[in-house]
Amino acid sequence: MKYFLYCRKSTESEDRQVLSIESQRTELERAFSAQPDIEVVDVYEEAFSAKAPGRPLFNEMLSRIERGDACGIIAWHPDRLARNSIDGGRIIYLLDKKVLAGLRFPTFTFENNPQGKFMLSIIFGYSKYYVDSLSENVKRGNRTKAEKGWRPNMAPIGYLNDKATRTIVPDPDRFAIIRRMWDLMLSGAYRPRQIYEIARFKWGLRSRKRKRTGDAPIALSALYEILKNPFYAGILVWDGKVYPGKHQPMVSIDEFDRVQELLGRRSWQRPKQHVFAYTGMIKCGECGLSVTAEKRVNRYGYRYTYYHCTKKRWDLRCGQPYVEIADLERQILAFLENISISDAAHQWMLRQFAKRREKQPDQKAAQLTSLQQAYDAAKTSATNLTKLRIRGLINDEEFVAQRQDLERDQLRLKQSLERASQSDSWLEPAEQLISFSNRAISWFQHGDEQTKRLIVGVVGSNLVLKDKRLSIEAKIPFRHWKKTASRPDLCAGAEDVRSLRKLPDTASWQAFIEQVETLLGDPAFTQTLACIRELIKNHEATTLRAVA
Ligand SMILES: [Zn+2]
Repeated sequence: MKYFLYCRKSTESEDRQVLSIESQRTELERAFSAQPDIEVVDVYEEAFSAKAPGRPLFNEMLSRIERGDACGIIAWHPDRLARNSIDGGRIIYLLDKKVLAGLRFPTFTFENNPQGKFMLSIIFGYSKYYVDSLSENVKRGNRTKAEKGWRPNMAPIGYLNDKATRTIVPDPDRFAIIRRMWDLMLSGAYRPRQIYEIARFKWGLRSRKRKRTGDAPIALSALYEILKNPFYAGILVWDGKVYPGKHQPMVSIDEFDRVQELLGRRSWQRPKQHVFAYTGMIKCGECGLSVTAEKRVNRYGYRYTYYHCTKKRWDLRCGQPYVEIADLERQILAFLENISISDAAHQWMLRQFAKRREKQPDQKAAQLTSLQQAYDAAKTSATNLTKLRIRGLINDEEFVAQRQDLERDQLRLKQSLERASQSDSWLEPAEQLISFSNRAISWFQHGDEQTKRLIVGVVGSNLVLKDKRLSIEAKIPFRHWKKTASRPDLCAGAEDVRSLRKLPDTASWQAFIEQVETLLGDPAFTQTLACIRELIKNHEATTLRAVA
């Protein structure tokens, strides 16, 4: 009798314990080739799962059996032939129609009679049950893992799966780079494509090396996937449910939300190149329109950049003159001079921070209590919401929507709680702000157009140009530090008189810290901080290059 030899093993979990295709073939040949009633006409080897119908080679083999090329199949075990009801049913139906005369397995004796077919259908049924329960177990395992705060599948770029602890840890090679991509986005000064190009060509970001794939430059779409993935904010979304992640968040929920807002802006879709540092930032003081820039050549052949009102109002003839860039930048520098702090003041402020860190506990306890209360309140609201749903006072849609909001609130508060209990959350931003105030002038003097634009964007708002005079408002919490004559808590001596003049008085110092504390989490402030971090990093990079 003519037989087909069929060997199958997929890479999927249900076939993990099964012999390799090669061993199946060897075993089958050893068991059946010596038997005189068996003639093997063809061998099929298929690396495909049988949990769903649609195996190409298997289907071809059955068609050939229907055509009469052979009338029997040899396989290692019935589960090699089918793990789904359609393929299993097809085999049994072919046996019923006598198209298929016999099946031979080394592991199972099949006889083509009613009992044999009944046993076979049970074995097929069991093979199907095996894959079904396996996937159910995997699902349950994944859900349990997500509930415990760990992402069940592969960690996204910037993180690694720690095989030993079965947790997710920051990738030492990539975590900082990906964080910097978030910063660039948060700064609001870069489009996603620019960030992508910087990451790919300037920082050489490549994906992690895996068994078969990886170690390749990332794609632009991957950048969008990163910026839209709440995992980076410490949130696990699994099966449509939100879980607080146990992994170290890369960005805060506030930062994440801010980026989503920036990504949603339509202006990102069309490229906007700023050839001129301040276009779009300054308004004309006479007619309120935007001030634009252009390059001109004077009669001696020198190139100048001029800023001027667009003068496009039909109802008002704007008579504002052109202003040369050098004139404009002198005024910006004067403004920066006002908000700047000297090295001595910088040092003094850092010492104040250190002191505050010591006497912080009382304030921290109060802050923790209020955060804890807010967190408990959010939890109570969630319980109340469930009660409303149970009583039928709201429908499913409302329930799901509101529950998602509440879950987000809870996560946000939990993050704040953790942040607050770990460190003094305002300290780092405050330090960054004063470092910026200390160095902005030097960065401005040596920076390119983009740097200048960032700096002005960080400290200034409501820039108005009128009669060649540029007025800038300092953004909160930047301030024109009042210069007190001297301070008792300063060890004077070596420090020069000029820096003494620039030390802040107690009141404005106090106000500064309070403002930083209240601004935390504010979207605009988040953006300001991201710009400052970017400026600091940029500057560190150039210093390093200069040293090397
Ligand atoms: Zn004007």
